[in-house]
Amino acid sequence: MQLTAPKFDEAEIEMLRTCLSSGWVTQGPMSQKFEQLIAERHGVKHALVTTSCTAALHLATMALDLKAGDEVVVPAFTWITSAHCAEYVGARAVFADIDLATYNLDPAAFETAITPRTRAVVAVHLFGLAAPLDDIRAIASRRGIAIIEDAACAIGTTYDGKPVGGLGDIGCFSFHPRKIVTTGEGGAVTTNDDTIAKAVGSLRNHGASAAHVPDDEAVGPWTMSAYNQIGYNLRLSDIQAAVGVAQMSKLDGLLAERRWVADGYRERLSDRNDIVLPAVDPGHSYQSFVIRIAEGGRQRRNALMVSLAKRSIQTRPGTHAVPALGYYRTKYGLCPQHFPNAMIAEDTSITLPIFPGMTASDLDLVAETLDRALAAT
Ligand SMILES: *Cc1c(COP(=O)(O)O)cnc(C)c1O
Repeated sequence: MQLTAPKFDEAEIEMLRTCLSSGWVTQGPMSQKFEQLIAERHGVKHALVTTSCTAALHLATMALDLKAGDEVVVPAFTWITSAHCAEYVGARAVFADIDLATYNLDPAAFETAITPRTRAVVAVHLFGLAAPLDDIRAIASRRGIAIIEDAACAIGTTYDGKPVGGLGDIGCFSFHPRKIVTTGEGGAVTTNDDTIAKAVGSLRNHGASAAHVPDDEAVGPWTMSAYNQIGYNLRLSDIQAAVGVAQMSKLDGLLAERRWVADGYRERLSDRNDIVLPAVDPGHSYQSFVIRIAEGGRQRRNALMVSLAKRSIQTRPGTHAVPALGYYRTKYGLCPQHFPNAMIAEDTSITLPIFPGMTASDLDLVAETLDRALAAT
């Protein structure tokens, strides 16, 4: 049983056929449609699709004009690019510990990490559960700190009933196959801010902006752009966007299947006091279903994962305690013990299989295998 699996059917193939037979394979109608669907679903004014969420996060730090001397607060337990996006532009990623109950940023730790150089915070909605945005906003807005929502795991996630992605200054989504909606690789930036949207649109497209066209050229069969800043090519192709358009049309179904699997795990595992289940939240989209062992550390966790693998059940640790990873630990001389909750999550978490199409007998097999493995380790 694999950890995750995308769900494609005739709808994606039909959209691909439409795209390919139109001959328009990038920066065309499929990208526009995909952007429109993302913006509508997340209640934001602008959505701009990109090559990945990593690209979206990089565009976010560029659009906010972060640079050397600036600091960005990042939760200590997340995917590494939540932090890299600060470092890409010469700013410094400063880590703050997480709340173990949610695996998301602990607002008190965020407040402690703030210095006069703090310019932004990355609010990661880890595994599909919204970060505590009200608390984060209350701390950030007093000090003019921008909020970047890392919503890589959080398409369809809601916070207090409101979709994420438009609740901070910039939102960043991922369409990697480990995520809920996939285009192979892909991402999106979301924002309600016209200036930020314009900056992201230019930076993802070679730094181009609309040019003043001299009168004698205005009638020519060309389009004129100005290039007044450095830029990149971080655009999604229309071929990928075509898959995204089809995926978005079944988002509610994809979310319902994930919630069904999550409920199934809860039914089978909630009596146990030797494992900790994910926080219960109606807005959780369950990009991942991550449990934690209550007793024992990394060795026991690894032994459990080996036992599951022996019965062909694929698992992974939750994600990384990023301050413990070589680049950050070495560069800033970090001591991982300063992030105790992130280290506990790093050492004791297990991501269980979750994907649309998982069956009740799949759930039984995981629960039974876990039961035996917990007794034996
Ligand atoms: C997957 C993920 C990313 C990166 O997404 P890509 O599209 O693979 O670049 C960033 N942040 C978090 C929290 C993620 O889970």
